Amino acid sequence: MPNFNDLIVSFQTLELQDKPVIAHASLRAFGHVEGGPDAVVTALIYAFGGVMMPTHTYKTMVTPEGGPANNAINYSRREWNRHAVPYTKDMSADSLMGSVAENLRQRPEAKRSMHPILSFAGVNVDDAIGKQTLENPFAPILNLADQEGWVLLMGVDHTVNTSIHLAERLAKRKQFTRWALLDDGKQQACPGFPGDSSGFQAIEPDVRPYTRSIQVGEATVLALPLRILIAKTMDRIKKDPLALLCQQAECERCMAVREHVRVRAQG
Ligand SMILES: [Zn+2]
Repeated sequence: MPNFNDLIVSFQTLELQDKPVIAHASLRAFGHVEGGPDAVVTALIYAFGGVMMPTHTYKTMVTPEGGPANNAINYSRREWNRHAVPYTKDMSADSLMGSVAENLRQRPEAKRSMHPILSFAGVNVDDAIGKQTLENPFAPILNLADQEGWVLLMGVDHTVNTSIHLAERLAKRKQFTRWALLDDGKQQACPGFPGDSSGFQAIEPDVRPYTRSIQVGEATVLALPLRILIAKTMDRIKKDPLALLCQQAECERCMAVREHVRVRAQG
């Protein structure tokens, strides 16, 4: 059962020194951690130069009466809008983001970025957090890459590796528009919304030679440099515009990307 000290010692064996990280974590994957998410977050802050995690709030999303075509959205289906929660700066991250990300967000010294759906929270990464805009939701990750930042996957795989979305965008893959309900009742359009990530594990062989792996409790913790992840993902999409899409027949966003690639090839 790892405790706070075990976590720090383990994280230090990754030898990232003072590099900032974007982290993704499944607390459950560790088995039992003494001190829970609080111990994990404190150890991350101690062991790395800065820590950022996604604190996305999909619960704010609404469907408007109309919008761009081929946007993987059915504008006539708005019955879920009444379940949307208006965005506020201090709303909790979706439970999907995990208890570690929510703990980081709640730290008094943490900053949270501005996006009503795709926010990030972090400690000692103020520059990155400040870079986000509605049009460029993944700018904080690009900033971390410029600072030689790393991705940490703690008990999770590349299907939650948000940084791959940045590389998709840089590779000019089709992006989407989504809408967030604001607390004044307005619907805020959010362009630059990413596609589906459920096919992302296919990047693993490309980045394996650059990936450091340690065992912490029952969890495998992977670390890989952002710049290489972004470059390898862009290479992959350049060679095959359909790379990293999922194979589910009903996946609307992957279908929309395929359609976009098909039309562009005819162009
Ligand atoms: Zn898909």
